[in-house]
Order: sequence, then C-alpha cells, then structure tokens
Amino acid sequence: MLFNKILIANRGEIAVRIIRAARELGIKTVTIYTKEDASALHVILSDEAYKVSSYINMDEIMDVALKSKVDAIHPGYGFLAENPIFASKVVKEGIVFIGPEPEAMVLAGNKLESKKSAIKADVPVIPGPLEPISSVKEAEKIAEELGYPVLLKAVGGGGGIGMRIVRNREELHEYFRLAQQEAYKAFAIPDIYIEKYIDKPRHIEVQILADNYGNVIHLFERECSIQRRFQKLIEEAPSKALMWDERLEIANDAIRLAEKIGYTNVGTVEFLYKNGKHYFIEINARLQVEHGVTEMITGIDIVKAQMRIAADKPLNLGQGQISIKGWAIEVRINAEDPLRNFAPSSGKIIKYHEPGGFGVRVDSGVYEGYIIPQAFNPLISKLIVWGENRREAIERLRRALIEYIVEGVRTTIPLYKKIAEDADFIEGNIHTKYLDEKLPKFIGELSIEERKRIIAASLAFKIRKTKARKSISRIRYEEYKSSRNLNAWKLSTLCNNNVY
Ligand code: ADP
Ligand code: ADP
Ligand code: MG
Repeated sequence: MLFNKILIANRGEIAVRIIRAARELGIKTVTIYTKEDASALHVILSDEAYKVSSYINMDEIMDVALKSKVDAIHPGYGFLAENPIFASKVVKEGIVFIGPEPEAMVLAGNKLESKKSAIKADVPVIPGPLEPISSVKEAEKIAEELGYPVLLKAVGGGGGIGMRIVRNREELHEYFRLAQQEAYKAFAIPDIYIEKYIDKPRHIEVQILADNYGNVIHLFERECSIQRRFQKLIEEAPSKALMWDERLEIANDAIRLAEKIGYTNVGTVEFLYKNGKHYFIEINARLQVEHGVTEMITGIDIVKAQMRIAADKPLNLGQGQISIKGWAIEVRINAEDPLRNFAPSSGKIIKYHEPGGFGVRVDSGVYEGYIIPQAFNPLISKLIVWGENRREAIERLRRALIEYIVEGVRTTIPLYKKIAEDADFIEGNIHTKYLDEKLPKFIGELSIEERKRIIAASLAFKIRKTKARKSISRIRYEEYKSSRNLNAWKLSTLCNNNVY
C-alpha cells in the first residue's frame, strides 16, 4: 500500500475527488472542516473528520495530522496547496506532502523567477522585463518600449487576481498604484511587473507528471480559453487550435522546463498561444481544477499518480504509452448568478439531480438539501463530458446540461447552455476574450427566457387563484395543466426547451 492514511487539507469537490482516489487505493482518509462545513460532503465521505477554525490554519491542521497519525497530506488546490511554508512544516514532522518540493513551489510562486527559468530552458516567453517595476516613471518607459496595450501583473499572483490591462499612458498612471495595492492585499508581496498584452490569445497548458527519479512525462494539453476575469470557466482537451507538430513542441517545452527546475509530482505549465506561436506564462505547482479532462482523454488517474509519486514510486508508464483518445470538455458549475453579474449565490439546494449516462462525469461537492456557505469559492461541481470527437463531446454536453438540475441557488448552468449552442464555440473559434465578447448576447437571451418563465409561473398561479380559466387562452391553460403535475425536474426541462 502507498499510504495507510492521509489527511486532505481542503473541502468541496476536490476533497471528494481525493477521497475517491484514496479509497480505491485502500488508503484511509482524514478530512478537516470549519464551522460552516459540518455537513459538507467531504466530511460525510471521509473516514475521520476534525473541526478546525480555518482551512489555512497550519498549526491546527498539523495538530490534526499528528493526532490522527496520517502518513501524508494532500493539499488539493487553493488554500495551502502552493504554500512552501506549509509543505516544509509537513515534511519536518516526517509526513509526506503530496505535491512538489518546497523549492519548486517557491519558484512557481514567483512569476518572474519562473519566467527566468523558462528563458534558461529555451522556452519562449512574453516580451517584458524580468524585474519588478517600482515606479510609474519606469513603467511608462517600459510600456512605451513594448507598445500599448501592456499588462500589469502581480509577481506573486494567482487565481486571476491583480492583473490590469493598460491601454495608454493615462491608464498606466491610474492603475499602477492600484495594481501594487491589490497585489499586496492578495499576496502580501507588492511587486508587480509588466508584459506585452497579447490580444485574444488562446490559453493552452500542459499537464506534467514527474517522479523522484528524474522521469518527466506529459499528458498532452488542455485548452482553457473560455474565461471571465482571467478565471477559467470551460476547459477542454485536446485543443482544437494545435497541429500535431505544435502540440508536441509545446509539450516538449513544458517537459524541458520541468526538467530544468527539477520539478517533481504533478504540475502544469501554462502558455498563451496566438498565430502559431506559444509563450510561457506560469507554472502551477499543484493539482488543477481542470485535471479531469486530461484524465478522460488519457485514461490516467492524475490524483492516484500524484500519490504514487509522493510515495516515492517511479512512474509506471513511459511517454510512448500515453495517447489521446477522444475529446473531453469540462464546465465549472459555480453557484453564481450570471444574470446578476455573477453575484455569489449561497443557500439551500432544494432540488438536485446530476446528469449521467455514457461519457458523463460529475465531480461534485454538494447534494440535495446541502446549504452552500457564503465563505468559500463558488465552485460547487464540475461537469465533464467525453466524446469520440469534439462534436460528440459538445452534443453530450448539451444533453447533460439539460439533465442537470440545481434549484434553490443560481448557477452558471444556463450560461453554459448558451455557450454549447454558440456557433463560434462549436467551431472552436475561441480565445481568452471570447466570453467578454459574447456575454451581452448570452445574458440578453437568458433574461428574456427568465422573464418568460416568471410570466408563465405567475400566469399559472393566477389561474389557480381566480379560476378565471376562460380568460386564459386554451393553449396556455393546457400548458399550465400539464406542467402542474410535473415535478421540478421536468418543469425546468420544459423551460430549457423554451416551451414557454
Ligand atoms: P486552475 O488552473 O486550477 O483553475 P485557478 O487559478 O483557477 O487554477 O485556481 C484554483 C483555485 O485556487 C481557485 O480556487 C483559486 O481561487 C485558488 N487560487 C489560486 N491561486 C491563488 C492565490 N494565489 N491566492 C488565492 N487563491 C488562489
Ligand atoms: P494566474 O496566476 O492568475 O492564473 P496567469 O499568468 O496564468 O495568471 O494568467 C491568467 C490569464 O490571464 C491567462 O489565461 C490569460 O487569459 C491572461 N493573461 C495573462 N498574461 C497575459 C498576457 N501577457 N496577455 C494577454 N493575456 C494574458
Ligand atoms: Mg494561471
């Protein structure tokens, strides 16, 4: 056995994902939870669970780890996943940290240092100086040299936070201090840097597996171009943009960089891609949210691979044994209301039905009756579909989205239905500004549908109240009558299909 027992220092869908991998490997699981999370799915599914004051309280988490006698800790993503101080504390107690070495984390956590390593590994990077910029004057000079637009980025950045597009000198003056303050607030490091802003690139990233014996392989690429505020909403694998020679070139660049920095465990090398050229942007030294699409096209369980590597096993497959089969697409189901500027939507899930059938996978952290707390990331689940090719994957996505019912809270599901019907998405004409460009149209359509639903519902209510059936057209009444007996699931399916 790899380990007897592990602690999962995370919550939600990713904690559940890790519990599943551990259980299949015969490993017992310990989870932690905060006061908001006592009834969370990860608490229910794990073998043991302990209350902590927060998911980032290192001392409390270490106490739990020692008390419950775990052999290893899996940090998931977010929270402490890329915190080298935490990783060092874990190792110091003789517990295995399921992730890269603290040194690799320090490097990956600093975007400028990572960029320098990329250059050393002969991997193309985005034009821009390799040192932080401290004054507006200096920034001005560099921006002139690079040519507007430029991007201000936080050296310690992550999660899309602390980035500002600057289109001219005035904006540079306006945003420079703000960007520094934002960076400091979010990452405790005020350092920012400048790079050329690439207009409408595609986001392409390579999944890496690296053992402790110097073997590094890639699991091909994911494309994550559908983003909002620099955060991914839809990811797919492989990417429609790449020819085979480009695919292999990018993948080999990622491997060369991983080898250069002596990276171990699993990680992702992120690139932007435009007009046949790719540019390194960062290394993510952790398991990523969207790892599932890679699992679906390669058949490799990345979480189990992580555990095997952490247990000091050599990789059990070589590059030659990895191939791409079919196409996978993931949509991140966020408890956010697309019609209200993506405001977080917390509260009780009163109706919940997950899609199923061939090629459909749902990695979820919720269940019917669960109350979504306000405190955390809005991601409640991930719908991942697999198809023989991209076209089938999209068809499957559409039908799975129709089946997926979440009531009581607002989610991003209605938006994904629009995207799955969009001609550019279907063609694969996507880039990182795709959603910004299309959102007004999608939101417009969604609000009309919502208005229709409200009218239909109030109409139905009126009929019941007044029994003034004659004043309602026959068809409307028949619709009402038939819908009345349907359960919420069918009703919303009717609404999805624009019966109203
Ligand atoms: P992925 O590529 O895995 O989707 P994201 O950038 O979306 O990566 O981050 C995954 C999770 O980690 C999200 O919950 C995000 O909010 C969180 N996260 C990533 N980096 C940071 C950071 N530096 N500070 C705070 N949260 C972060
Ligand atoms: P984070 O650590 O927040 O994930 P990244 O450097 O990975 O930051 O960038 C996140 C996203 O921001 C990219 O996927 C892309 O959409 C955008 N981005 C980053 N750098 C640039 C750039 N130089 N030009 C254009 N877009 C960029
Ligand atoms: Mg990134």
